[in-house]
Amino acid sequence: MLVDAGENDEGNTVVNYLKKQGVKFLEYVIGTHPHSDHIGGLDTVISNFEINKVILPDVVSTTKTFEEVLDALSENDLRITKPEVGMEYKLEDATFIILAPNSSEYSDLNNYSIVIKIIYEETAFLLTGDAEKTSEDEMLENGLDLSADILKLGHHGSANSSTDTFLDRVGASSAIISVGRNNKYGHPMSETVNRVLDRGINLYRTDEMGTIIVTTDGTSISFNNDATGENNSAQE
Ligand SMILES: [Zn+2]
Repeated sequence: MLVDAGENDEGNTVVNYLKKQGVKFLEYVIGTHPHSDHIGGLDTVISNFEINKVILPDVVSTTKTFEEVLDALSENDLRITKPEVGMEYKLEDATFIILAPNSSEYSDLNNYSIVIKIIYEETAFLLTGDAEKTSEDEMLENGLDLSADILKLGHHGSANSSTDTFLDRVGASSAIISVGRNNKYGHPMSETVNRVLDRGINLYRTDEMGTIIVTTDGTSISFNNDATGENNSAQE
């Protein structure tokens, strides 16, 4: 399964990485929401792999990036599956469940982000796309089971995601921020980083560590970079 594919010029990086891992077929491809830093490389992925199911939120964008994804889908006879909260999908011995979006319309494209929880035996991973407080609050209000060991923080660690209540409900032991080094948005925000560190959650950041690989056997979880939170408290 692949969730998001980076910017337009990063599609080949994603494809080459997957091929290097021996991936020949993708059971599921999720484009969390139509921003180019998430679906930019998706057209390249779609043209390079056999895919079973593509899940995209029920929102359109008029950008060239989005149109390229639609073109790639139709060229490969793929239809879009829309996310439905509560829907569960099998991924061999693992399962993933859709937790958001919980509304049909939002003022901010980020809140259309497909949020999924992947469960494998005793471990759970929560991937939140660019979901912000609005979507987090809906997941909380709807009483969804958000508990997870690993949380990929919403919206690159922006201030308007990963609220106190949300972090408490997830109760993760480790969090990951996917964020570009020296990005123009100033992500991640120090207040968000502090909300994570104040809870004793180990924080992993791609801007500091590069590619982060998390592996589980269903019981224990390991990271490719074992220098955990200690490493990161210095950057506040
Ligand atoms: Zn983003």
